[in-house]
Amino acid sequence: MKFGLQPSAAGSPLLDLVLGSSAVSSAIPFKAAIAGLEVDLTSAAQLACSNASASITAQTQGLQFDWQAVQISSDVVWEFKLSAKNTGSDLITLSRLDSAALALQGSRWRVESFASAWGDEFRPKTASTQHDSFFGVRSGRSSHGESPIVYFIREDDGYTVIVSPAWSGNWHVDVLAGGWVSAGISTWNLNLSLAPNETLHAPSVIVAAAESKEVAQRNLQSAIRENWLPRTAATDAIPVEWNHWWPYEDVEVTQDVIIENAKLAENLAIDSIVVDAGWFGESKLDTNWTDLRGDWSSVNLARFPDGLTKLGDSIIEMGMAPGIWIELEAVGAKSELRRTMPEAMARDDSGLRPDPSYRITTVSLDPSDPGFLGYVCLGSQAGWEHTYNSVKSVLSQMKARWLKMDFNIDPGFGCTRTDHGHNAGDGLLRHYEGLYKLLDQIRLEFPDLVLEACSSGGLRVDLGLAKHVHCFFMSDPDYTEHHLQVLWGAAHMLPPLAILHWPWSWWRGDYEPSKLDWNNLDVETFDVMMRAAMFHRLGVSYPLPKLPKRILDRLSHHLEVFRNHIAPVLKTANLISLTDSPLRGNGGERNSAWQLTSNLNSTHEVHLVMSLKLESDAKPAMFKPVQLDDSQQYAVVDLETQNSVTALGKELNAESLSKLAGNKSSWIVEIRPTRAGL
Ligand SMILES: [Zn+2]
Repeated sequence: MKFGLQPSAAGSPLLDLVLGSSAVSSAIPFKAAIAGLEVDLTSAAQLACSNASASITAQTQGLQFDWQAVQISSDVVWEFKLSAKNTGSDLITLSRLDSAALALQGSRWRVESFASAWGDEFRPKTASTQHDSFFGVRSGRSSHGESPIVYFIREDDGYTVIVSPAWSGNWHVDVLAGGWVSAGISTWNLNLSLAPNETLHAPSVIVAAAESKEVAQRNLQSAIRENWLPRTAATDAIPVEWNHWWPYEDVEVTQDVIIENAKLAENLAIDSIVVDAGWFGESKLDTNWTDLRGDWSSVNLARFPDGLTKLGDSIIEMGMAPGIWIELEAVGAKSELRRTMPEAMARDDSGLRPDPSYRITTVSLDPSDPGFLGYVCLGSQAGWEHTYNSVKSVLSQMKARWLKMDFNIDPGFGCTRTDHGHNAGDGLLRHYEGLYKLLDQIRLEFPDLVLEACSSGGLRVDLGLAKHVHCFFMSDPDYTEHHLQVLWGAAHMLPPLAILHWPWSWWRGDYEPSKLDWNNLDVETFDVMMRAAMFHRLGVSYPLPKLPKRILDRLSHHLEVFRNHIAPVLKTANLISLTDSPLRGNGGERNSAWQLTSNLNSTHEVHLVMSLKLESDAKPAMFKPVQLDDSQQYAVVDLETQNSVTALGKELNAESLSKLAGNKSSWIVEIRPTRAGL
């Protein structure tokens, strides 16, 4: 089957995206508007095109547009890039700069997407190209409101096109009846001022296409893993973290708590000890972490009397790597930073917010000062330098090899100040450009660092940030049903190498879905909880000294399985869901099954298949591993019992694999082609 790009037969509408023998999209592949009026590109656009890539230049209305489709893997996954240069002598204000536009061809397409909010990430939504639908966020965070990924599946033949704005701020995907799709930076309150000779780079949009949803999803994961995510030897080593947050939060964390846990972690397959919020600010035991964010140069000596350097050294002496949490852009209402660096604060005094499309969840705003947005504007030089120096200093003091970056703030349309070196209408764009530059600089200077973007609170899971961090923490809540729903959604965008989550944590707080009687927890239930979080990067948030011995023993076992069998394949693996998703509130599929596949059709080919019953009496799902050859012999090993069997691909299914694994509520088997068959 032929995939690719080709000039449209009639010369206009210009570019076809081809699958098989026909175009699935035929359009000028980008859109722009000046001060609300769409730019007519039909006569100006000049196309250069090969099967794998295409570029367009268009000179019109005092602007030069440069658009490119760059294939980012050997599969059909492109980055659609767009820039605009002001070639005239007057200031131009762009109000739309969509890097992707498609006109989907053929009959009706099903439209699949996800709503997203704290504790409610990756909630599936469906629509169709029979009617208009509009996707996007206005919260100033890419996944607060909706997730920046939309799947289009043609109902006749299953052909699939994925559209994903690679941007951490406000984005949109407009779908008009009949299949007109336009995507990029949100047009809401967008006023991008372009001075003469100035060039502006619009956020990219990732577009993937394949003959089925499954293949498109797999291709996208591979492309992001191989040619998009930053990777180093340190991050490919898949270190496992212990993090203090849920059992202690800020109020119960101290230096002694960290050391006491680290002494037990030392004997487990745990590589990093990550200190979460609670370490910074005034030296008092009763401070609230949200109020003082930004004061990264002061360590709370009431909780950490020996400071970060000593703590980091102690962790290193135990043979592990220290890590630290920081909400690098955040400014608490009561912080010193707010008082001492007013010039760096993001502000909006226009009085236009809030937008009612999301529930504002910024913590620590100031009701007496509604223009205070609660973050440092990284579009300002002063703000950027302060933030960069803060992160660098914290990492250096701690000798940290893990940085957890949070962001509990809704910037809305961003900073509208005009004394920051940006314009009133592009504050959010310049902030995120500043963030990306800062993260790139930090990675360069700390090559052994694992850089984690914490999602809820952060709520920025997008392919824009994916080019600047190593992994995304999926969601604050981690009860198993929710975790699996979030994972099911995240696998539509990210490879398992970019996904980090914890099994159900020991929560000290009173969040109802996370309540669990840890002292009476049975081992089989704990096994389900642990295994559910083992097909991607793994961390745990447990009070190790409090864990009942039977649970600590099982934790040790699972961490060894992860280290020996799963971590080594993550850097080459795709994650495939073999069943529908479980859904929060006792809904959806209750016997969730998953597959990791790595190095297909090579001597290192390996598949890991996992089954999880959310209730021990859940109805067994009738799944079958994929990407196996029916007539090939495979050696299958249950990673719990080491029971093994050799069987043909066609004989491997839910029933036969469950039987091998003793029909337990959860199991993981490893499947390898036998040498004779290769
Ligand atoms: Zn600003």
